[in-house]
Amino acid sequence: MTTAPTGHTAGKAVKSDIIAPTCTKKGSYTLTTSCSVCGETLTKEVIAVEASGHKFKKPVFTWVTSHRKCTAAFTCSECSYSVKIKAAVSSKTIKSAGYTYKGKTRYTASLTFGGKKYTSRVTETDIPMKKLAAPSVSLKNTDSGICVSWKKVKGASAYAVYRNGRLIKRTSSLKFTDKAVKTRDGVSFTYKVVAYTKSLSVNKSASSSKKITRRYNLYPGVDWGSIYGCG
Ligand SMILES: [Zn+2]
Ligand SMILES: [Zn+2]
Repeated sequence: MTTAPTGHTAGKAVKSDIIAPTCTKKGSYTLTTSCSVCGETLTKEVIAVEASGHKFKKPVFTWVTSHRKCTAAFTCSECSYSVKIKAAVSSKTIKSAGYTYKGKTRYTASLTFGGKKYTSRVTETDIPMKKLAAPSVSLKNTDSGICVSWKKVKGASAYAVYRNGRLIKRTSSLKFTDKAVKTRDGVSFTYKVVAYTKSLSVNKSASSSKKITRRYNLYPGVDWGSIYGCG
């Protein structure tokens, strides 16, 4: 006695020959269905799997020293593929410079990558201090010495007086009489005055210099100081 065949019974589909996709390459696997009763292969199909695409980590922003340019590097966490994107940079003064301090600039770099917006901000103390004008110098012979005077310089809190390149006086006044040269009749001297704030190393002006020949006791009995004074 024989039993008429009742047809196969499809079992669970089984995956084999699995080739995993990479960031950029398709993968595949074979899907096989067999009869759960007799084991005969019923269907066999190769299924393609799309490439997974790069998975980028947070970008690393690199600024040039001047902060005028910025690049964002995106690196894939799966395959270490890396791509550099130029960012658009904008800047804004957030603190103006003064005579004793530098100003601050905030730089913002932004770009769109993979449909997402990325931004990096840095603040730099990079605006030079305000420049002090060079003082305008006047020189005069007086009885007591050579009188060096100058006009007030905006932003300056003190002045340095040099004779022949050598610092001889620091003062907050607008004049100074160099008594050391009182008796050096006929000798020429060059004076320069530098305006500064806080200290000469913080912010100082350019110098302006003038030359004078010492005249001492040219007219005995005449008090030069009372005629011209100093300044
Ligand atoms: Zn079967
Ligand atoms: Zn990748």
